[in-house]
Amino acid sequence: MKPKAYRSELSPDWCPGCGNFGIVAALTRAFAELGLSPERAVLVSGIGCSAKTVHYLRSYGLHTLHGRGLPVAQGIKLARPELTVVALAGDGDGMGIGAGHFVGAGRRNVDLTYLLFNNQVYGMTKGQAAPTLDFGARPKGLARPNPQGPVHPLWLAFASGYTFIARGFAFDLAGLAGLIAEAIRHPGLAFVDVLQPCPTYNDLHTREWFAERVYDLGATGYDPAAGDVAAFAEKAGEWGERIPVGVFWRRRRPTFGEVLGAPAEGDPLARAEGLLAAHHLG
Ligand code: SF4
Repeated sequence: MKPKAYRSELSPDWCPGCGNFGIVAALTRAFAELGLSPERAVLVSGIGCSAKTVHYLRSYGLHTLHGRGLPVAQGIKLARPELTVVALAGDGDGMGIGAGHFVGAGRRNVDLTYLLFNNQVYGMTKGQAAPTLDFGARPKGLARPNPQGPVHPLWLAFASGYTFIARGFAFDLAGLAGLIAEAIRHPGLAFVDVLQPCPTYNDLHTREWFAERVYDLGATGYDPAAGDVAAFAEKAGEWGERIPVGVFWRRRRPTFGEVLGAPAEGDPLARAEGLLAAHHLG
């Protein structure tokens, strides 16, 4: 299938120039590259501008509660391991109210992909500071400079046990599509932090601001599979004049599904499987 064939008939209502358009384009490219059938893929979101993504693709989609996309996504994957599951969240959704689930998911290593739409503001509610906004930054929706320090998504993913950690840029379509495809292929919990400009409320970190700074980490000879924690910490922390994008960390350890094995007759996961089958999830 061509990337456009994965799009639903609905037109996004995002603001013109929103980075979300780039992410949807990259997601459909990745699905096409992998040859995924829409009925074998499930997108799961929480609440926010990013959460609407599930409506704009022809795959199955669940638009859940604020910060709760990850637990639902993990449940789907455990009950129906043959499906490709992609969870997505904004930085407020994922790093704020959903932060506990983000950490817990890393401990389990369920085989799914998690995309963070990171624009550093709460776009849907008029641009308040999100957990990833730099200390002292003042995008136009704030009455005063941000008095809180930021959560660092890549470091938090590492500390939580994610087995694939990457960062992409929403308007580098080819690069982001490649990262998403790699994340989906990875056997385990894969995290992609996507730099997603919000032109309506973040006038500091614009498309142009990122485009001048991002560079390909892979082109520097960095090896994400080397297990070099110090190199990971240094590269993941690089921010400002130069911002690396690419794969920062990759390792293999048993997924939660492999550890648990197939659900036995009568256990809750087996019942969930029957319930999902009854709702025609594949
Ligand atoms: Fe995109 Fe920001 Fe508009 Fe939301 S408010 S749709 S994140 S540009």
